[in-house]
Amino acid sequence: MRRLINRYIICSAIIFSLLHTTPIEEGNIEEKIGLKVEEIGNISITKDILPYSKEHRPMISMFPKYITIHNTDNEDIGADANMHSRYLKMTEEYVSWHYTVDDGTIIQHLPLNEIGYHAGDGMMGDGNMHSIAIEICENADGDYVQAEKNAAKLVAALLYEYKMDISQVVPHNHWSGKDCPHNMLSKEKGSLGWEGFRQEISRELSNITLNDAKSSFEQIDALVIKMIEKCYRKLK
Ligand SMILES: [Zn+2]
Repeated sequence: MRRLINRYIICSAIIFSLLHTTPIEEGNIEEKIGLKVEEIGNISITKDILPYSKEHRPMISMFPKYITIHNTDNEDIGADANMHSRYLKMTEEYVSWHYTVDDGTIIQHLPLNEIGYHAGDGMMGDGNMHSIAIEICENADGDYVQAEKNAAKLVAALLYEYKMDISQVVPHNHWSGKDCPHNMLSKEKGSLGWEGFRQEISRELSNITLNDAKSSFEQIDALVIKMIEKCYRKLK
């Protein structure tokens, strides 16, 4: 029965994608795999992109308008980002998302210009069709609050690169009513809570903007000093 339902979903997805979206073909794809930055805080982003052959990599192009936040809902010891990356490559469930974040690791599973199936709002919904999905781990052997802080840094970098604002960051709950990200919505396990998480993102975003402005000023300063030195040499 489950396989039958999966087949029905896959067929609907294919028909819808043919009618309404741009399918991506292997070998004929300009992939915008990831962010320009390769590090978030001091964590390198690991790219472990789902192979083309996996049915739950939908291969449908996307321009992101939202970022959707999830909790993994898996408190098992060892259920960290690496475990979820392995799961995604092995599962036959029709589910996929863009990033998994734990207290010390960030792994990317889908290019940022492809949709994933994570929001529970079908093939017509903005959640699946137009949002970058981030899963935050809640493994019992991890530091959950640190995982949220790492996710806030990643979200800030995405907002900055895609010129989005904080209003475009939404909980999974927004799309389908599911109680996800449960820890944040219920403020459990020391979670920053949804509002606290939004504030953390805004703080990280201001840091990125400030640092960027600072480096632009430093570049202008260096240019002015060079020009002054040139004039001075000519005067001598
Ligand atoms: Zn979710």
